[in-house]
Amino acid sequence: MEASLRDELVRLFDTKLSRQMLLNLETCSRCGLCTPACHAYASMPLPKYAPAFRAEVVRRIYKRYFTALGRFAPVLGEAKPLTDAALEELREAAYSCTGCRRCMVYCPFGIDTQQIMSIAKLLLIGAEAAPEILSLLADVSISKGESIETFKEGFLQGIKRLETQVVARWKVEAGTTPIPTEVEGADMLYVALAGAHSIIPAAVVFNAARENWTLSFFEAVNFGAFVGDPGKTQLILDRIVREALRLGVKEVCICECGTAVRVAKQLSGTQPFRVVSLTEVHARYLREGRIRVKKLPGSHTYHDPCQIARNGGVYDEPRAILGRIVEDFREMSPDPKYNWCCGGGGGLVAMGEDTLDFRMRSSRVKADQIRESRADVVVTACENCHTQLENINAHYGLGKEVKFLSSLLADALVAP
Ligand code: SF4
Ligand code: SF4
Repeated sequence: MEASLRDELVRLFDTKLSRQMLLNLETCSRCGLCTPACHAYASMPLPKYAPAFRAEVVRRIYKRYFTALGRFAPVLGEAKPLTDAALEELREAAYSCTGCRRCMVYCPFGIDTQQIMSIAKLLLIGAEAAPEILSLLADVSISKGESIETFKEGFLQGIKRLETQVVARWKVEAGTTPIPTEVEGADMLYVALAGAHSIIPAAVVFNAARENWTLSFFEAVNFGAFVGDPGKTQLILDRIVREALRLGVKEVCICECGTAVRVAKQLSGTQPFRVVSLTEVHARYLREGRIRVKKLPGSHTYHDPCQIARNGGVYDEPRAILGRIVEDFREMSPDPKYNWCCGGGGGLVAMGEDTLDFRMRSSRVKADQIRESRADVVVTACENCHTQLENINAHYGLGKEVKFLSSLLADALVAP
């Protein structure tokens, strides 16, 4: 590795050294309590998949460049220089971690391996060694924000084509647009993913609840966050913030995409609108009696998306919804905060076939958990989780149906 690149990577490393990060890097006692907590290690017990091992790959570089002992006596200081081989280790550590933070729940010091891995991802970006597909997708999202006029017409035509499917499931009042766009002063801006599955059930429920809503021109997914680029993450989010401010909405509702929910909640800053997940909005409609539902037959279980539940605190709302709309609900885990990660987060699902083999091998414990629930239907509220659960279902021959929570709620609606 050239000295100039090494200097630049050390500079990037330095930008991540907040007080919290220093605690993460300097506190580990190597007790190993986190080891069996990681789904990758629990499914494939190799040392390299232990959370503390992953963190150590970053920690040794930290020691080499940011501690006196590491600088002057690297062997004594367990320090490691930044080399091409070290970059390869960083890549393996970062892209076998989904950022689920299950290890953090078990760590007596609350060490956040996901945060430590964010250093690894940033160094990979600096060395132009991050997964190309994620960087490319992030750039496409950013350029869409810069040239909204060029895709607006095509987007509106596509939305128009979905409206008959919305009305077929829930009749709207005469003069009402089934999928409204560009509504200034709307109460809510709904930010969906590209695809009818993310728009139709949500529109059906909004219309049933007589919500004053408008659909965003942008898709919620944030590839900048997957690749771990703070600048791109913010630029992608800023498109939505600007749109919400322009329309003057009171609330921005993010669709069933765990990372998009977490990023929007954490990084939107102080705004005149609040950010909520679709699941929270649906639970509110039921609580306030704005929609009526029936109970659907069959046994259902719920997979908590890590970014919405463990990393976002939304545990009760999906259970409140399921308690109202299914006859038979079965928990996967006695305490939802210990629910296993699906194994598809952190950009792994977005990397597609390239990661499929690892995703399947590392999700054996999730497959076991689903099987043991004995439920017929696995419900979730995240696009990544849904794709990964479908893959697990096929790979392990579980014979389940995988459904989005929003779609199930739309199926359960009854007329007032
Ligand atoms: S954040 Fe999740 S995937 Fe990453 S090391 Fe911890 S338990 Fe494993
Ligand atoms: S549980 Fe915490 S302190 Fe113990 S090895 Fe894991 S990260 Fe280190």
